[in-house]
Amino acid sequence: MTREKYLPYGHQKIDEDDIRSVSDALLGEFLTTGPLVKIFEEKLQKITNSNYSVACSSGTSALHLACKAIGLKEGDWVIVPTITFLATANAVRYCGANVLFCDVDPETGLITNESVKEAIQRAKENNLSLKAIIIVHLAGRFVDLKKIKELAVNEKLKIIADSCHALGGVYEDRPIGQCYYEDLNTFSFHPVKTITTGEGGAVTTKSEELSSIMATMRHHNMVKTDKKNNPWKYEMKMLGYNYRISDIQCALGISQIKKLKSFVEKRSMIVSTYNKHIIKLFPIISRPCLSIDQNRTQHSWHLYTVLLNLGNCKLDRGTLMKKLSLKGIGTQVHYIPVHTQPYYENLYGPLNLPGANRYFENTLSLPLFPKMKAKDVEYVVKEIGSLLL
Ligand SMILES: *Cc1c(COP(=O)(O)O)cnc(C)c1O
Repeated sequence: MTREKYLPYGHQKIDEDDIRSVSDALLGEFLTTGPLVKIFEEKLQKITNSNYSVACSSGTSALHLACKAIGLKEGDWVIVPTITFLATANAVRYCGANVLFCDVDPETGLITNESVKEAIQRAKENNLSLKAIIIVHLAGRFVDLKKIKELAVNEKLKIIADSCHALGGVYEDRPIGQCYYEDLNTFSFHPVKTITTGEGGAVTTKSEELSSIMATMRHHNMVKTDKKNNPWKYEMKMLGYNYRISDIQCALGISQIKKLKSFVEKRSMIVSTYNKHIIKLFPIISRPCLSIDQNRTQHSWHLYTVLLNLGNCKLDRGTLMKKLSLKGIGTQVHYIPVHTQPYYENLYGPLNLPGANRYFENTLSLPLFPKMKAKDVEYVVKEIGSLLL
């Protein structure tokens, strides 16, 4: 059986109302830097229950703005999990600061209290000036922020949550992005993420000061200095960037965010269907491990990451992925440990992070997106079964 439609590992859902919203914006007065940016930001504040939000051009620029807002500079070190997208570490480097890669739990891919303690210990032994920690809610599961917060307070570290996978989730009764334990949260609206603006991102915070720093920086740090008498006059005190998001993109964001709740529910239903069927493939394949107990949390599943145990199988992961692709099933590995990238190995040399290596070797992301039907899930599990069993 071949499929008429390929199932990628992630995909956007665009409806008529999204198209209408964007075409209205195209016919409006402003294509960029108009009223829709503010409206989108207000909607983000509302669903994350945060005081402020700054929308920008991508999740990567959101991370860069967040790192700049807490004042990262040359000589500073930041703890970053090595299992994440390149952007989390790269944003630190854009500021000239250094990345202290942190190990993760081999079953969840998330940093833990212990792995962060180990990283702090390493910083102390090497006299590194630690300034911050960036946590990543990998696949939409949650880092135990409450515990990490205690460590951060003891060491006077700022916390940035890279929540690009977790928009719409609830941790301890609070929506992700509220910034209760953390200083800043960053989001991406790339098409594979929970909601999309094509390209786009945002930072949420409870600090008016940090929000204003980031809003100015995304527009070249241009500040009008004499609005009354010389409205043309502006000043740039610090280097700024063009990290603006357009009204066209925000028009899409505004209609997408209305559907966030239903997207999260749909994803959660697909995960339940997977969990029900994937049991048949145990122990060759295990369903994703939950990070912390489900009470008072609601995962916003970004990826369905199974753990492979291919020891006695005739297939390795690469061959399995190739064969699945021929059946119309897209899979992906999230992620190659960032510390093993040539750029980072040249900077810091080889590191021994065994939990991350184990997670990386066994993880596989199966298709997960709101348009999937139960029969698509059954098809994926059946095809994997017929290749492996
Ligand atoms: C997608 C993603 C980013 C980067 O977002 P872009 O919008 O692609 O720049 C950063 N961190 C994580 C964890 C992501 O998944």
